[in-house]
Amino acid sequence: MPRPRSLAALAAALILAGGCYHPTQIPAGAAAAAALSPHTSADTALLRRDIAYLASDRLEGRLTGTPGNDSAAAYIARRYTTLHLAALRAADDTTCIPVGELQRTLEAHTGSHVTLTAKQTFGCSSPYLEPFVATAVAAAHAGLRDSLPTQNVVALLRGTDPKLRDEYVVIGAHFDHLGRSAFGALDPDAGNAIRHGADDNASGTAAVMELARLFSRHPTRRSIIFANFSGEELGLLGSQHFVEHPPVPLDRIVAMLNFDMVGRLRNDKLLVYGVSSATELRAIVDSANVAPRLAITALGDGFGPSDQSSFYAAGIPVLHFFTDIHEDYHRATDVAQKINAAGEARVVDFAERIARAIADRPGRLTFVRAPRPHSMAANGPGGNVYFGSVPDMGAADVVGVRLAGVTPGSPADKAGVRKGDIIVEFGGTPVKDLYQYTDALHAHKPGDVVTVVVERAGQRITLSATLGKRGD
Ligand SMILES: [Zn+2]
Repeated sequence: MPRPRSLAALAAALILAGGCYHPTQIPAGAAAAAALSPHTSADTALLRRDIAYLASDRLEGRLTGTPGNDSAAAYIARRYTTLHLAALRAADDTTCIPVGELQRTLEAHTGSHVTLTAKQTFGCSSPYLEPFVATAVAAAHAGLRDSLPTQNVVALLRGTDPKLRDEYVVIGAHFDHLGRSAFGALDPDAGNAIRHGADDNASGTAAVMELARLFSRHPTRRSIIFANFSGEELGLLGSQHFVEHPPVPLDRIVAMLNFDMVGRLRNDKLLVYGVSSATELRAIVDSANVAPRLAITALGDGFGPSDQSSFYAAGIPVLHFFTDIHEDYHRATDVAQKINAAGEARVVDFAERIARAIADRPGRLTFVRAPRPHSMAANGPGGNVYFGSVPDMGAADVVGVRLAGVTPGSPADKAGVRKGDIIVEFGGTPVKDLYQYTDALHAHKPGDVVTVVVERAGQRITLSATLGKRGD
């Protein structure tokens, strides 16, 4: 009697392939990619279709540990099956978690009885799924379960050069979002409305799937790993899990390209973080910016509030592609209708040129380490302190933090802080950039009264604010 797990994997693979599935019938690599779309550059319609599905009501905002999140993972895995990508986890690998073990893990975490249905053997439904249990203490404060079974989705496109194919470029994005939870939402008044997360981050997920199609058509010398992370909104948990349980040796990963919010291109403006994480990256980014050129702001080391940080902290050069913050960020209004799919297609083509240059170049990149700003310690004393300012992430040219907006009704709003203001001092601490601002904010706790000094129309204005608690 074959072991149940492989039977489940086979059955699921059949489901994934929609009925009669036989390995030899699926055309390999390039043919499969062409079958999916005839376009040799990014396909705007395909991007739009993927984002519409991922940000649909049906997936309910893809919160980690929910059926909507699992459906998103299955959708991505189906695409990698269609593209005939390789799995990095052997078919009979034991990493998928049988129900008994999962139950024991959850009961140990929660200290209470957990009921799971027998067929919930976790992570067995596709060889691309990398199951893990997301534990997020902060989330528990907001009424979410503190341990959530979930999964990353990981697939491999083998490189063509025998000398270089055991080196890897990781192309990744998170697919989880806030679901119906106010935890992390900037519109708590919307209650349990669905936060669709079309830009954050159905757009990045669609970009990674489209890059998988483009590279399947024309593979590179080095291998490429396509990685879709869960648990990002709970603290970069999926990318952290990947780095702590790497499917290939970490020192074989030559770079990681992260796509988080690439669906709202305005005025051709694209932010590319991480160019200082390797000596050669700025030149590679510049030479990839061919006509019709994008207005690129390339800056910073590899740390930042998204998954590239997990890889940079592990000594890997990184880039984060970002079309900037907007008024729908972390709100129920971040919907598919507002996505600029044609703009995203330009971002994908630009990134394809960068990834190809890195994956085909003879030598590896030269990693440059920057000190980790301790504001990254999300679990510091002021982890849940709330002010309500929306920084303009692209304002690299100012001393201080220029604001793209202020959340209505927030402590910042009540204190009289305005869109366009430049915060130059917070709680008595001078602020030159986003890191210093986040440090100064996290040095306080909910209820603290702080002075905030802003520059407005050349004037310095001192305001007083009573800080709130995130999620309140
Ligand atoms: Zn995001």
